[in-house]
Amino acid sequence: MTDALFYQVAVQSPLRRLFDYLPAVETGPVLLPGVRVTVPFGKREVTGIVVSHTASSDYPVTKLKPISAVLDSAPLFPPVLFTVLLWAARYYQHPLGDVLASALPTLLRKGGDLPQQNFWRLSTHGKGLPNDALRRAPSQQALLQLLQQHEGLSRDDLSTAGVSAATIRSLVNKELIESFSTTLTGANFAPDGEREILAEAPLSLSSDQQDALDNIEFKAYHSYLIDGETGSGKTEVYLQAITHVLREGRQALVLIPEINLSPQTLARFRARFHCPIALIHSGLSERQRLEAWWAAANGSAGIIIGTRSAAFVPMQAPGMIIVDEEHDSSFKQQEGFRYSARDVAVMRANRENIPLLLGSATPSLESLYNCEQQRYRHLSIKGRHGGAAQAAWQLVDIRHSQLNTGFSQSVLEAIKTQLSEGNQILVFLNRRGFAPTLMCHDCGWVANCKHCDAHLTVHTHRPGLHCHHCESRQALPSSCPDCASVQLNYLGQGTERSEATLQALFPEAIVHRVDRDSTGNKRAMETLLEQINKNEPCILVGTQMLAKGHHFPAVTLVVVLDADTSLFSTDFRALEKMGQLITQVAGRAGRGAKPGVVMIQSHHCEHPVFELLSQHSYGKFAQHLLHERQLSAMPPFSNAALIRAEFHQGGEALALLQRARTYLESQMPSSPTLRYLGPFPAAMERRNGRYRYQLTLIGNERRDLHALLAALSHWLEQDKGARKIRWAIDVDPQDTI
Ligand code: ADP
Ligand code: ZN
Ligand code: ZN
Repeated sequence: MTDALFYQVAVQSPLRRLFDYLPAVETGPVLLPGVRVTVPFGKREVTGIVVSHTASSDYPVTKLKPISAVLDSAPLFPPVLFTVLLWAARYYQHPLGDVLASALPTLLRKGGDLPQQNFWRLSTHGKGLPNDALRRAPSQQALLQLLQQHEGLSRDDLSTAGVSAATIRSLVNKELIESFSTTLTGANFAPDGEREILAEAPLSLSSDQQDALDNIEFKAYHSYLIDGETGSGKTEVYLQAITHVLREGRQALVLIPEINLSPQTLARFRARFHCPIALIHSGLSERQRLEAWWAAANGSAGIIIGTRSAAFVPMQAPGMIIVDEEHDSSFKQQEGFRYSARDVAVMRANRENIPLLLGSATPSLESLYNCEQQRYRHLSIKGRHGGAAQAAWQLVDIRHSQLNTGFSQSVLEAIKTQLSEGNQILVFLNRRGFAPTLMCHDCGWVANCKHCDAHLTVHTHRPGLHCHHCESRQALPSSCPDCASVQLNYLGQGTERSEATLQALFPEAIVHRVDRDSTGNKRAMETLLEQINKNEPCILVGTQMLAKGHHFPAVTLVVVLDADTSLFSTDFRALEKMGQLITQVAGRAGRGAKPGVVMIQSHHCEHPVFELLSQHSYGKFAQHLLHERQLSAMPPFSNAALIRAEFHQGGEALALLQRARTYLESQMPSSPTLRYLGPFPAAMERRNGRYRYQLTLIGNERRDLHALLAALSHWLEQDKGARKIRWAIDVDPQDTI
């Protein structure tokens, strides 16, 4: 009797467990981890992924069903990547089936094929013919002979050989040839003996850049923080490090934040290298995504540039991972599988034993702390390239001052001067819409969202009241619903209002608004960037979209309209994010030949963070915040996790978290090294009709915290009351604690 064989299969389901199956009825070789299968699951057939096999099962054999079909002849994930995925499921306490599924392009998740390649070959009938059988039709005879000499030829091969579509059709009609398809193999990006991959000469590096490059050890894992302000030449260091990797015949993965990759950056990659570059981002069709994913997996792409989810893309010969703008919070997925692509990249590089470059002008406190702890190597690049001087910072105290819809007199004068000198101005305000609040002057009524604990935002471009939290919309009322007064006031300002104000004050000037509403599609953003890059005088008003990635060489003045909102936030990362954002925005100024000025309006100019930031010292600012975090034993000096629960009735979600806390304390009582906070209502208790609560765990020992979370997720799955409640475990949360 042969040994029994059971497969443990991961299926997309909310349950944190695997399911046992018998081998498929049609026997074949033992299935390796990472192979997709179709399995019966409840009443459905679903796509699952083989995780392991064993000789015994905890379930009665008679209850187990066989695998219905095997979809892949080889695993979709190389072994090292597979271990990273297993780690990620454990670390983030997320069901493995869901983790594996999210690492696959949708088409593969649904059970589709890998990209196929079509070939032509002789049919059985065709094979029997003598090679001069088609003497009277020379072109058909030529095709016959070609296919007699070569096993399978693609449409491209045939075109190159001068075979027309009509000739192919004739032989198909005579049933002499047939097409067949196989998985596209893709030529390696760097065939042996053809390792010259540079399409242009690299720039000669500054001494800081050279130092950074020289410090990189290519043959083993290490993490490097490349810290240099915008324009200091980090990208050039990446390009040269990548050159080294490609020459070794290995691939480089570059992760970027969830934004449209700036066309300039992509153009620089394309101009530098001959090799194919695969782009993986949310703007692709399902088919394009599959093709890009496959180009990485089969080694035909030398460079893979992608957003968050690309952290899990298989590579045939991984050589280096780069995370650009590593501080960016979009690397953390905020729902479902709540992973941090940056942290996954660190683990992946470690397991693959390859270097990891983390780049930023404003590194995260985590990464700076890791440098202090000597876990990462800190490589600084000082100064800017092209001789552009650093911008001068100016804090504008707006206490007691008369503001014109948010603008102080000194800011307006500065804008006027810059315009008259033919320069561009960037006005930063991280709030979309016209006004964040609509209020009745006579009775104090405020337009609130029915579904959220939030005010509705007044919009004038797509006129109406919009909720920025649940996306619900309604028409602008012409009178107060409570007292019928028509005295409705707009309080505060968003980008639309600043745009209108500036246009009214400077009727001659061109004002561009750059926010999610004005750049809804990719084309709109590109058109706008083209306009701006003509370097004609104009004013740009926008949200954080302006802070990211783009180069605006003609901007000489940056105005931060409202720097105060983050000073009093409950989010423990608010100040860090504010400092990063302001530094990034400021980095947009004076990148061209002219020096820049940064003006920051605040009611709290004496706040130490502004002082530190304005001395051009993001580093000192970060040290200050790190010190505060240390005093309060907050991350990165401790590890945090949130248990979130939401339900359309408040009481039950809260009660679940209270029971969860009791359970947790029975497992591990709170102590100076393990703190439980809450459950408390979320910063916005009701959102989209659901009441939201959270319980926070802060522990000094990661190991303890993870043991607790594993026990808790098991407990939550068993708890009857938890079933109807939407709950989630968020490890290393980005927002409020
Ligand atoms: P970052 O990625 O830090 O923003 P970049 O690499 O994009 O910086 O460099 C900013 C500008 O300076 C680019 O236009 C780039 O071509 C130029 N640059 C970078 N390094 C050098 C160098 N070693 N010599 C000359 N120009 C350079
Ligand atoms: Zn009223
Ligand atoms: Zn709402």
